[in-house]
Amino acid sequence: MTELEQVRHRLEELGLQRASELLDARLKAAQNNQSTYLAFLGDLLDAELSERKRRNLEVRTKLARLPYRKSLDEFDFSFQPSLDARFIRELATMAFVQRNENLIFLGPPGVGKTHLAVAMAIEAIAKGLSVYFVSLTHLIEDLRKAYEENRLDKRLRIYVRPRILVIDEVGYLPLDSLAANLFFQVVSARYERGSILLTSNKSFGEWGELLGDPILATAVLDRLLHHSHVINIRGNSYRLREKMKSGAYGGSSESE
Ligand code: ADP
Ligand code: MG
Repeated sequence: MTELEQVRHRLEELGLQRASELLDARLKAAQNNQSTYLAFLGDLLDAELSERKRRNLEVRTKLARLPYRKSLDEFDFSFQPSLDARFIRELATMAFVQRNENLIFLGPPGVGKTHLAVAMAIEAIAKGLSVYFVSLTHLIEDLRKAYEENRLDKRLRIYVRPRILVIDEVGYLPLDSLAANLFFQVVSARYERGSILLTSNKSFGEWGELLGDPILATAVLDRLLHHSHVINIRGNSYRLREKMKSGAYGGSSESE
């Protein structure tokens, strides 16, 4: 075994995988550039560190179970003039999460609620915060099963533990009384302990009907809204705009 191979193996044994892969190339570069020993070592360790950070970010992003990945930069604010872009960017600093406040996006289908929720989640993960993303339908299904199997308390922890819980698509389906109760339990367990980021196509006035119980709806909203930012998006559907552009959606005279 050559000396180079031996060093490479030691790096691997130490778990410095990336440094091991790069050793040969960086060594040659250092020789060519007549770098100092210190500069060579610093360079190799930097490469290892940045790979670890990348991997860590990837693992934490996977754990968040985002439905897709879209950033704030990919959001076209000019299409949604009712939105205050500066305020959204301010929220993206995640100061509201440090204060355990909630963030709620309201609006009709296609206006970018899920996109913004995902973008916020990505910003949060990049800042080292834990995130878990779930649709309300899935949340209820999951907790209902746990309830039936007598392990609700344990399962609730999945939704209480992360720094931010994203609950997407509140309002598409009405909830029966067990579902409404499970939803209440999640909101209640997180109250003043961790942020909820929620999206809904229903105004708060419609939540009584949605939860099938106006008193329970009041209890949920009371906790949810106590420390919160509510953002109403009143614009047009971005999905339909794309259809209109491609000509698949007739009957509109929108000009561009
Ligand atoms: P909602 O959750 O409000 O129903 P989505 O966030 O799922 O809507 O948006 C629908 C699609 O349109 C997604 O692919 C999203 O990325 C895109 N989209 C919506 N609004 C915008 C926007 N202002 N700029 C760029 N893409 C947008
Ligand atoms: Mg959505």
